[in-house]
Amino acid sequence: MTTNLLDFDLDGLIGFCGQLGEKRFRATQLFRWIHQRGVSDFDGMSDLAVALRTKLKGCAHVQALPVISEHVSADGTVKWLFDVGGGNAVESVFIPEDDRGTLCVSSQAGCAVGCRFCSTGHQGFSRNLTTGEIVAQLWFAEHALRARFGSSSRIITNVVMMGMGEPLQNYAALVPALRVMLDDHGYGLSRRRVTVSTSGVVPMMDRLSQDCPVALAVSLHAPSDALRDYLVPINRKYPIQELLEACHRYLEHAPRDFITFEYCMLDGVNDQIEHAHQLIELVKPSIGRAIHCKFNLIPFNPFPASGLKRSSQAQVAIFAKVLSEAGIVTTVRKTRGDDIDAACGQLAGDVQDRTRVVERMAKQRTIVLKQVT
Ligand code: SF4
Repeated sequence: MTTNLLDFDLDGLIGFCGQLGEKRFRATQLFRWIHQRGVSDFDGMSDLAVALRTKLKGCAHVQALPVISEHVSADGTVKWLFDVGGGNAVESVFIPEDDRGTLCVSSQAGCAVGCRFCSTGHQGFSRNLTTGEIVAQLWFAEHALRARFGSSSRIITNVVMMGMGEPLQNYAALVPALRVMLDDHGYGLSRRRVTVSTSGVVPMMDRLSQDCPVALAVSLHAPSDALRDYLVPINRKYPIQELLEACHRYLEHAPRDFITFEYCMLDGVNDQIEHAHQLIELVKPSIGRAIHCKFNLIPFNPFPASGLKRSSQAQVAIFAKVLSEAGIVTTVRKTRGDDIDAACGQLAGDVQDRTRVVERMAKQRTIVLKQVT
């Protein structure tokens, strides 16, 4: 069994090469060949000594993830479904815009958080991805897109850890992967252009602020603990006020001076005007500290097992107006790639349907919605 070099950040690769008796600059050269030039065949790494290439062939490899499917939308959005073994699959999505190219990356196969509006949450948790499996999504996408567009320069300018999984519940694998993305010898992405999205794993938010501060998005989705307990069950462990305190602490170290709050708009559940007013009181309280934030309203991507509906465009517009008039920068996420769609996790759910989770959620939905409405 040889070692997958995508599992290493630069320090890790320096350590690995050290064990082979190689100097640090050799590790840097190797790292650049892999990440900047997308080369996986050691024979193609022409400025590495033949003796090193021979050593590497005996003990290492660069392992991409097998592609199960690729869907390209008319608007240029590309979704890949990758096989991570054991009947599991994860998704990555490339979203091209005029001034940037964003890759949405998965961190886990399935997810244990179980948000009600999320197709991945309905599938249950299978396993954490390794650092190599997280990095492989970027490695593959960047070099596949360069080949497609005949480009030798960077195409992916932003990474959002918003695919399948809760990244902060896979912290040990996440941090080296972030370091590969940020490293000037790797992808050289700005900390401001790499975003970790969390459902609110408070202790890990604190650790991330120390270990590898990048932009932070928080999946809020509800203005009260009663409703958030239902929509984002991790709220029972880390309720809203604890989460907001963690956001304040994170901002002391963050590369951006605001937190993005994600808010999935669910018809009749969390999209009423009183919910918007409750949100304003949360982030700009009449007594206490305001939090520097932006809201990103996300049109719900319906899937059959959710039993939830997308808010009307008119309701989203009213909700956005209430927040904006309170001085909160509010955007509405554009729906992209609708013609190839699937809510996040839905393609993978077609590969593996963990049916018991779906049944359990359906039962709970009936009970809890009665309680919170
Ligand atoms: S929204 Fe994110 S944290 Fe919640 S279940 Fe889906 S993948 Fe997990």
